Amino acid sequence: MPAGRYAPSPSGDLHVGNLRTAVLAWLFAQSTARDLLLRYEDLDASRTVAGSAERQRADLEALGVTFHGEVVFQSQRKHLYDDAVATLSAQGLVYECYCTRREIQDAPRAPHAPPGAYPGTCRLLSDQERRRRRAERPGALRLRAEAAQDRVHDELLGEVTASVDDFVLVRNDGAAAYNLAVVVDDHLTGVDQVVRADDLADSAPRQRYLRRLLYGAAAGDAVEYAHVPLVVNSGGRRLAKRDGAVTLAQLREQGVTPEQVRDALLRSLQLPTGPLQNAVEAFDPAALPRDPWVWEPLNG
Ligand code: GLU
Repeated sequence: MPAGRYAPSPSGDLHVGNLRTAVLAWLFAQSTARDLLLRYEDLDASRTVAGSAERQRADLEALGVTFHGEVVFQSQRKHLYDDAVATLSAQGLVYECYCTRREIQDAPRAPHAPPGAYPGTCRLLSDQERRRRRAERPGALRLRAEAAQDRVHDELLGEVTASVDDFVLVRNDGAAAYNLAVVVDDHLTGVDQVVRADDLADSAPRQRYLRRLLYGAAAGDAVEYAHVPLVVNSGGRRLAKRDGAVTLAQLREQGVTPEQVRDALLRSLQLPTGPLQNAVEAFDPAALPRDPWVWEPLNG
């Protein structure tokens, strides 16, 4: 069964922006006869909040966002990420990098290099230099990328082209980095539809590039993307916890029910209200609003 997924980080309660993205992931999956999988992106232990995975799931289900199959926790999958790195290493596509953020920022770069791209400092170190640097600080592992950019087709954004630099595969504390974990998990769990907020659109070309290296061209091209608009506050900034009552728990305290929140989200998508199932037939990606949605506080 082909599948979509929703992949929150369990770092606290979901807010209405996250919930709206989850509703969209559910609608995209349902309307294309796909399962929807739930994956917790909990690789950064310092950001994981105890109990929040369970709370996030309960909130999603209160809106009608249901999931199929086993829930995946990235923190339990280090062996799979290590295997992928070993595959790339065997092809000479991995190198250690000892740069600090500061060094990357200050390094000289080619005139047309995209802003923020890794300047390649550690790519060509001699063995001797590598030994010296490794003794100073543990290395991260980077991909030796052979393309400067890649491209995906997005259902809502059209062609998305973005830079593919020598991005980090494994952080210097040994944890898999975001792009590696996403690519390995999406592939191994049969995901071929990625719906997420559009602030991540720029990472899709990198993920496609890595997927092709690891799993071949056909698998690399098999994923469909839909990057959906963010939810913003009345000042036009990305919605955050400090923007007042934005989680289901906070809204409940104000007398707003999960059904009212679900209906507000559906209205914002110009879809029929009521149980999510009611919206499946009317759901048409081409008709979705393309602008960020401005969250107005709801009153119970
Ligand atoms: N974990 C990411 C987030 O919560 C989503 C990553 C993805 O969907 O690829 O924003």
